[in-house]
Amino acid sequence: MSTPPPTTGRPQAKLELPASQHLLDRRISDREQPGWLQQVWDSPRTLVLTLRNRRAPVPARHSSAASALILQRPSGPLPAGMVYLGAAPESTLYGAGHDQSERVHLVLDASGQGPEDDPEVSWLSLRTALALLDPFHLGLFTQAVAISNWHATATFCGTCGHRTVVRSSGWMRFCSNCSTDHFPRMNPAMITAVVDGQDRLLLGSAYQWEERRFSTFAGFVEAGESLEDTVAREVREEAGVVVRDVQYLGSQPWPFPAQLMLGFLTRVENAEQARPDDDEIRSVRWFTRQGLAHAVSTGEVIIPPRGSISRALIEYWFGGQITGPDYGAGLSASTRARSS
Ligand SMILES: [Zn+2]
Repeated sequence: MSTPPPTTGRPQAKLELPASQHLLDRRISDREQPGWLQQVWDSPRTLVLTLRNRRAPVPARHSSAASALILQRPSGPLPAGMVYLGAAPESTLYGAGHDQSERVHLVLDASGQGPEDDPEVSWLSLRTALALLDPFHLGLFTQAVAISNWHATATFCGTCGHRTVVRSSGWMRFCSNCSTDHFPRMNPAMITAVVDGQDRLLLGSAYQWEERRFSTFAGFVEAGESLEDTVAREVREEAGVVVRDVQYLGSQPWPFPAQLMLGFLTRVENAEQARPDDDEIRSVRWFTRQGLAHAVSTGEVIIPPRGSISRALIEYWFGGQITGPDYGAGLSASTRARSS
């Protein structure tokens, strides 16, 4: 295998987004070669991530504090349905002291044939993993769930209905009937912190949540719409406030099932007119920093868990971490409704 150039830096988002920080070299030109997966499978420097029902394995004894996934060496012949995830320096996986120039290849097995009923293994959902795994393993898990979700819905050609076949080491599906290439799709959705002239933060509580759960505002980008227009429309619809300006802060893949969340800070001008839409949103509420910190610490208000982009947006506005009990995974109101 050819030696790739060393991984270089990447542009940093303004938000703390652990699922967006893994430095995997996807080796796009290599993975398009027909024999690539077999070559990788036969390599002594390959590790396999297995998913079962979109869950990934961690050591059972440490499942509530696991920071890394269980990755296994390939064994037996190359199974069908494998996906090449990418390559990472040995030092990323095994820590300092290991060779920075040697690469480990990572392969996804989504066939569900993981270490069956092993008492040493717990199977973690991605939502649970958000607040646990280190950024490398969380990013790997996120990528694996995203590509698995796409394969689950791309078995048949969207143009002619014929069965498709997998190409490019799992990153393309081809329809031999109408010669169409199908690539994994992500659905863009915006999510935004809404701030007024006094630097207060507006949060909303959705009908589908318990009343004390509050989050930022979000919505899918419609066909033919710009991100700025989506932000303005959703904030007006859900909270009744008019957008003055919009600042992009960072993005996070959110494969529930196929969103790419694009995070913004939005300043609005008619704070006193904020009101819930009475359709998705039960109530909206302005918070000062002190007021939100107090409400979260006492449990009066629940905010989304660490690892979600909504939490990152809230803490970006806050200027640091907000401490308080976490109560499971949350998401902004409107994307949750369409993704579940
Ligand atoms: Zn077709």
